[in-house]
Amino acid sequence: MKKQRKAVALISGGLDSMLAAKVMLAQGIHIEGINFFTGFCVEGHTHAIRNKDKSRTKRNNALWVAEQLGIKLHIVDVITEYKKVVLNPKHGYGANLNPCLDCKSFMVAKALTWMREQNFDFIVTGEVVGQRPKSQRSDTMKIVTQESGAGDLLLRPLCARNLSPTVPEREGWVNRDKLYDFSGRSRKPQMALAAYFGIENYAQPAGGCCFLTDASYTAKLNDLWRARHTRDYDLDDIMLLKVGRHLRPQPHFKLIIARDEGESNYLEGYAKEFIHLRTLSHSGPLALIDGDPKEEDLILASQLVARFSQGREALQVQITVAHPNKAVRMLEVTPLASESIPQEWYV
Ligand code: SF4
Repeated sequence: MKKQRKAVALISGGLDSMLAAKVMLAQGIHIEGINFFTGFCVEGHTHAIRNKDKSRTKRNNALWVAEQLGIKLHIVDVITEYKKVVLNPKHGYGANLNPCLDCKSFMVAKALTWMREQNFDFIVTGEVVGQRPKSQRSDTMKIVTQESGAGDLLLRPLCARNLSPTVPEREGWVNRDKLYDFSGRSRKPQMALAAYFGIENYAQPAGGCCFLTDASYTAKLNDLWRARHTRDYDLDDIMLLKVGRHLRPQPHFKLIIARDEGESNYLEGYAKEFIHLRTLSHSGPLALIDGDPKEEDLILASQLVARFSQGREALQVQITVAHPNKAVRMLEVTPLASESIPQEWYV
């Protein structure tokens, strides 16, 4: 009897990787999915926090895709190792701080290690030649093949017929004639293939899956690095950049002000570690201070928090200021007029 071959498929949660895995399943390959948690993933976090997103279905798309396909999904935490990809990408960044080419090589390399440890035969990704200006051109796809170390063990079923045959094709584990030759930016072929497989519901195509492609997020990350005089971060730093209004009135401190109750609840989890401000006389958002504020900075911060509270038109608003492990004190301030908040303070 022919041995059933096993492949690990990189599952992002988007349509392409879902289809790539589906094409392999249709050829009788045993597929298990792998998904890497970098800390910059969009879904399953911000959507779960904000009030305005309450009505949206909360799901981890990668898990959802695996469920639809009936495959196992392995979610692998790569936060620490991924740092070197973000901080020092050999091939540079895309439009924002997205190190896509290095990121893909890194993820395929991780999948290769996993594949060997688990005695799987090859790796599958949903890449399509020409779909992305930088990381999915035929020359850069070769870089991923080589730098990841995967070589001919990396199969891209959606565009395989535009590429040289890989080991699974040469060995007859998969039928090359039943693979695809998609190329370019149009997503119509993918949509047609989804319809062919009867897949109607899928997450909106990539781009929205990673905060490193988001201009306003990366502005906050750059601001953090400037303020700390070092390009570094930990998980809490990058999670907090996803939440609240960030205002930097001075280089040595910034305020993170919750935009709604959901964000206030989320920031509550950090209140013990940061100087934090709450409105006492009116309802208002919780705000954290990141940095090293002086006394006059705390007064300014209180005036800003008052501005974003229900007391914005009041003459005086009471604000409590709490330092970690210290007694809480109360300040009474006049809310800052919105025209007195320079636009440059908004990070
Ligand atoms: S968008 Fe983000 S996760 Fe996707 S390849 Fe680029 S850096 Fe990696």
